[in-house]
Amino acid sequence: MRIGIIGGTGIYTYEGNMVSVDTAYGSVEVVHAVQGDHTVFFVPRHGAGHVLPPHRVNHRANLQALADCHVDRVIGITTVGSLREDIAPGTLFVPADFVDFTVSRPTFFDRGAVHVDMSQPFCPEVRQAVLAAARARGEVAEGVYACTSGPRFETPAEVALLRRFAHVVGMTLAPEATLARERGLCYASLSVVSNLAAGLQEVLPAEEIAAIYDRMRPVAMDVLEETIASLPRERACGCRGAFERGAL
Ligand SMILES: [Zn+2]
Repeated sequence: MRIGIIGGTGIYTYEGNMVSVDTAYGSVEVVHAVQGDHTVFFVPRHGAGHVLPPHRVNHRANLQALADCHVDRVIGITTVGSLREDIAPGTLFVPADFVDFTVSRPTFFDRGAVHVDMSQPFCPEVRQAVLAAARARGEVAEGVYACTSGPRFETPAEVALLRRFAHVVGMTLAPEATLARERGLCYASLSVVSNLAAGLQEVLPAEEIAAIYDRMRPVAMDVLEETIASLPRERACGCRGAFERGAL
């Protein structure tokens, strides 16, 4: 089984061999490594060297590169702000659904009326594997991820609105999950809560956020490794056909 990982702030490198994959949407640096029964393909979401801010991430190239590497499943690692006081910085969060407030809305279908089914936003098989692996490592929260365009953080009024229906806020999940679905790839995410959103606490000093990253990086890597090890070789989910079912 070939598994794609898209790493974000906090998890940015992977041991393995780097290749450059040219896609119709741009070139992507992909690290590949054998892990047990699986081959892992790691893409740094913000480009090699972390050069792209959230609103400039080339999501189409990232997902196309993984599709071109013939991966079946993708795990996206994201960093989020908590919208709830009971989801503290340092918590692992496994999104169960998302609300998309991004404005760029990248798609692989720029022509024709194509509507992709998102009634089950994440692959149930991969999501359960991430959840089980995360639970084995400590405190885990589940819920709704609100996705904003960034690159700025939210205002207190935006946070007051978002926390009515979402648990965390971030800037990258929605386009990634959508494009994965459009390519028939399984997708689920593991998020690390780095701070409470604006207005819910005093602004955290950069050193404190960096300390949370340092503490959580090995935990997230362990969860990732355990998730990969626990995934069955064959897909029993419906993600591959979700696009055809949703298309008009
Ligand atoms: Zn699936």
